[in-house]
Amino acid sequence: MSFLDRPLTDREGRSHRYLRISLTEACNLRCIYCRPEEDVQPNVRSIPYEQCMQIVHLAARFGFRKVRLTGGEPLLHPEIEKILQGIATLSGIEDVSLTTNGTLLRDRIQELKRGGVRRINISLDSLQEETYARITRGGSLSKVLDGIEAALRAGLQPVKLNVVLLKGINEGEILQFLSFAHDNPVHVRFIECMPFLPSAAELFIPTDIVKQRAREAGIPLVPIVPPKTKGLLDGPAELFRIPGGKGLVGLIHPMSHHFCSQCNRLRVTAEGSLRPCLLQDREVPLGSALPDPAKAYQLFQEALQLKSPFHSMGIPLVSTGAPLDSMGAPPDLKAPIEEPTKPGELPPVGRLPATKIPLKKMYAIGG
Ligand code: SAM
Repeated sequence: MSFLDRPLTDREGRSHRYLRISLTEACNLRCIYCRPEEDVQPNVRSIPYEQCMQIVHLAARFGFRKVRLTGGEPLLHPEIEKILQGIATLSGIEDVSLTTNGTLLRDRIQELKRGGVRRINISLDSLQEETYARITRGGSLSKVLDGIEAALRAGLQPVKLNVVLLKGINEGEILQFLSFAHDNPVHVRFIECMPFLPSAAELFIPTDIVKQRAREAGIPLVPIVPPKTKGLLDGPAELFRIPGGKGLVGLIHPMSHHFCSQCNRLRVTAEGSLRPCLLQDREVPLGSALPDPAKAYQLFQEALQLKSPFHSMGIPLVSTGAPLDSMGAPPDLKAPIEEPTKPGELPPVGRLPATKIPLKKMYAIGG
């Protein structure tokens, strides 16, 4: 076995198995927390088929087992079907999934299934037509609901619905979403809004509000402990079931209780660079290294060494209780946290400590 076939680990000894690829920066929605209103994009980048295949091929060799295609809107990539078919022929990749806004899904579901997609994440921030259109700046809720239905009919499992909690916009729909999870065989995952845009910081609510609203309404959320064997391929959601319900409820809290220490992800941007962390503006361009596995291995390793045990945004002090300096953060992670939060204390709703916002937006990195 050559050194190239050994799984890559970072400075914390975390093995990396999960590759997330932003296929394209293009999107047919403009969610208020994801894209600025005036988002002029003269050069919308998409990763070409050949480059994408070279990267996934190398990643499989370096120990990656799980690939998620995202964006932008991955269904807008002109070669997505070919990419999926290509990945399906690679040995080593055990799982291919997709994150989509669902608006184009109904008519594309069979193509995705043929390409080997067995499970899917669909973004759905509101169950009310008007609120959905407001959040997405013009999207159609009924198209997404059709897409969800098509995914369920096609037998994709699980179908996970991503709900970004937005203060004053969809926080009143928490019980409606819980009832959706009760009545349908889907995972409804509430996600904390990350401040990629200054305006998004104002929209933050901690996911603990979901537990609170469920408690007040007398809805039991029973924690599910994931089986140990699944470990490495699992996501960051804290999972619950509602007794008698068909679906599950997930809480994803990158800001209030970050899960960096369990992170086994590496991202690939639509430009073909490695991005170690969504929340740190550091990338390793793969460029001309791709045809040379030894060089590419070095660059993958370089990217993993840039990973930190925690991110610099929001309230990382909650879970560590230690200042960034004492954790050996690299200099550019030592951004001042203006209003440090004590361990165990949640930030005020809608107000995150002012920290460095990554220069790149989520859609370019791949959410
Ligand atoms: N277009 C696809 C979609 O809408 O699902 C994939 C790309 S989108 C960037 C991937 C996921 O990132 C979506 O579930 C979206 O809600 C989430 N996302 C985008 N910006 C976010 C933010 N500021 N905070 C939390 N989640 C965010």
